[in-house]
Amino acid sequence: NIEISSGALSVEQVVFAYDSGKPVLHGIDLQVPAGAFYGIVGHTGSGKSTLLSLLLRFYSAQSGCVQIDGHDLASLGDMQFRASVGLVPQEPFLLAASARENIAMGRELSEEAIVAAAKAAHAHDFILQLEHGYLTPLGEGGAKLSTGQKQLIAIARALAGQPKILFLDEATSHIDSETEQIVQQALTELRGKVTIVAIAHRLSTIRDADQIVVLNHGRLAESGSHAEL
Ligand code: ATP
Ligand code: MG
Repeated sequence: NIEISSGALSVEQVVFAYDSGKPVLHGIDLQVPAGAFYGIVGHTGSGKSTLLSLLLRFYSAQSGCVQIDGHDLASLGDMQFRASVGLVPQEPFLLAASARENIAMGRELSEEAIVAAAKAAHAHDFILQLEHGYLTPLGEGGAKLSTGQKQLIAIARALAGQPKILFLDEATSHIDSETEQIVQQALTELRGKVTIVAIAHRLSTIRDADQIVVLNHGRLAESGSHAEL
């Protein structure tokens, strides 16, 4: 049985095109050590979400390979893959249910596990300020929450599955600067505990990343720390 224990990610010479269109990714190489925090930035249409889709097995590459802990993505069973990775999508889907149910998402999780995930996501404090705390209904699609708060709930939801790799596609729409800072803090504190690959639309979100990778027209243009770039 294959073991995913540390969450190191390796992308080698990945080429991808949608259907019969022109290639969108032109040979991506990326090595993310276990527990590292990597940020991906780039103009709209540069291929960030496409790259993420490949890492999540929504699509498969025309050529090249993606490995987790040295194992080809394709060799992992569905259950095992899903247990190893967590996704915070660009537009999180929220249930018309309580904060608690939105974090648990049908999984049998203890109260402690839910609160621990919310604390790690820095969602705990704002949840406690809601009228009925964890039992507060969040409304249809999370109507009662701001974009940033939805993202924090989505981070808690992903962390509750104890993933080895956390993928985050930052919301494009407006996030108030206070909540944005909370997302930034949560990611920074998770470094070393989980491998993080975060697509960012604001450089500030990933200012503490170990490495920031710039995607330009489907090619990796440059990489370095926030200070180096
Ligand atoms: P954004 O910052 O706007 O989220 P992005 O960097 O995530 O942009 P992608 O969504 O990966 O960019 O798109 C990369 C290219 O692939 C674009 O030219 C886009 O039009 C194209 N593309 C994206 N999704 C599809 C799809 N499902 N079918 C065909 N082409 C697509
Ligand atoms: Mg995108």
